[in-house]
Parts: sequence; structure tokens; C-alpha cells
Amino acid sequence: MRKLIVAGNWKMNTGIAEGTKLAEDINKYLSSNTLPENKKVIIAPPFTHLVPVSKVIDPSKIILSAQDCASTENGAFTGEVSAKMLKEIGVKAVILGHSERRQYFKEDSEILLKKVKIALKYDLDIIFCVGESLEQRENNKYFDVIKEQISETVFKLSKEEFKKVIIAYEPVWAIGTGKTATPDQAQEIHEFIRNKIKENFDENIANGTSILYGGSCKPSNAKEIFSKKDVDGGLIGGAALKCDDFTKIIEAR
Ligand code: PEP
Repeated sequence: MRKLIVAGNWKMNTGIAEGTKLAEDINKYLSSNTLPENKKVIIAPPFTHLVPVSKVIDPSKIILSAQDCASTENGAFTGEVSAKMLKEIGVKAVILGHSERRQYFKEDSEILLKKVKIALKYDLDIIFCVGESLEQRENNKYFDVIKEQISETVFKLSKEEFKKVIIAYEPVWAIGTGKTATPDQAQEIHEFIRNKIKENFDENIANGTSILYGGSCKPSNAKEIFSKKDVDGGLIGGAALKCDDFTKIIEAR
């Protein structure tokens, strides 16, 4: 049975004290509310918060993720944080390919494949984001865009490597805009992605891959989106910053 996942991407938000308290509150909720075995919670605080957050969470209840990692192993790359460094402090996963990284930091498939490979080398799970812009959706290019984003990156992995990958479908026009994809729009793309995984790898791998929806997901719409058969949970931005909203979304899946 594939995993149902609710992952919080905190982006560049919260101070250390505030973020640590948020992690503590989510941990407290999960200590008193037992989740089904296949349901997982991930949080991705900023780099500076990872160590303090790691000290207040129970790793059997919350998986600690980073929001990015370097595409190189080590060396003269000012400002970068390597997968090895993340592994050393107890990080278990990393978000790669987020549309904000693609858009503002010009990360393309070539660099993303390097990041994916290096994250796998250090045994990190990968939440790999894909998604089309509004223009691409309006011009009916979205299937092509998604296909290209996965074909040039995670589809170049071996079957064994791909088992460490979670896909997050995040239409760019829905991220932080308050505009959510309809449950049917999400299902259409999730099913498309799962079929492509089947074509590229095999049916078992396709059925075992968690595909998350991301983009203005909140307590009021999560249940309906998550009810779709190929939607295995969500990657949550804004609503992951409030314990009450985030835990309601966890309950929705
Ligand atoms: C995200 O950035 O991954 C995201 C889904 O953001 P939001 O929920 O705020 O749209």
C-alpha cells in the first residue's frame, strides 16, 4: 500500500523560536493522535531551523525534510548546503524542483537531476515538484510540460532509486494564490503522472509511488482534493505555518 503523506513546506518563514514551537505543537498533536501506519507527516523548515527542530520532534512521528540541497558534494560553493551536511544533522528528505527554485533561481532539469542524484547518494527521500504555469495551462500545454519535467529528471533513475521519490504536482498558478486546482483537475494530472511512471518503470512502481497535490491547499478544500483516487496527500505551503490548519489537513487525508 502506498504512503499517504501530508508535507509542510515552510519556505522562508518563521523565526527559530516560532518555528521550533510550531514543530513542537505538531509533534504534540501527533503524540496524542495515532495515525494509520501508512500515513506520514513531513515538515520542511528553513535550513537554520533544522537542528533545533530535530531536537523537539519524535522522528517516528515526523519526517524532517530540507527545502533544497546543493547539486555538488562539497567545495567552493558559497552559501550552499550539501546533502551530506543535511544527512549528518538527521534530515531524512529534501524538496527538489519547487517552482520557486525553478523560477527565481533558474534551476533546470540538468541541475535538478544532479541534486536528485546527490540526495539519493546520501539516502534522502525526495519530494520532487512538477507543475505548469498559468500560460501553459491556458494553452493546453500542461501534459507536455509535466511529461518533460519528469522525463528529464526522475525518470532517468533506476527503479530502486525511484522508490525514494515522492512526486508533488503543484500547478504554479495555484501556489500561494488562493486559487486551487479543482479535485478533477488534480486527479487528471495525478493519473497522467501515474500512467507515465507505469510506462517508464512498471505497474508496481506506479502503484507504490505517492503523488501529492500542492497549491493553496487548506482545511476547507483538502478533504475533497484528497478524496481523489490518485491523490495521496498534499504539499502544503501557507497552511503549514499554523498548527491548527496543518493538523486539520493531516486529518483530511
Ligand atoms: C508550496 O509552495 O509548496 C505550496 C503548495 O504553497 P501554498 O500551499 O501556500 O500554495
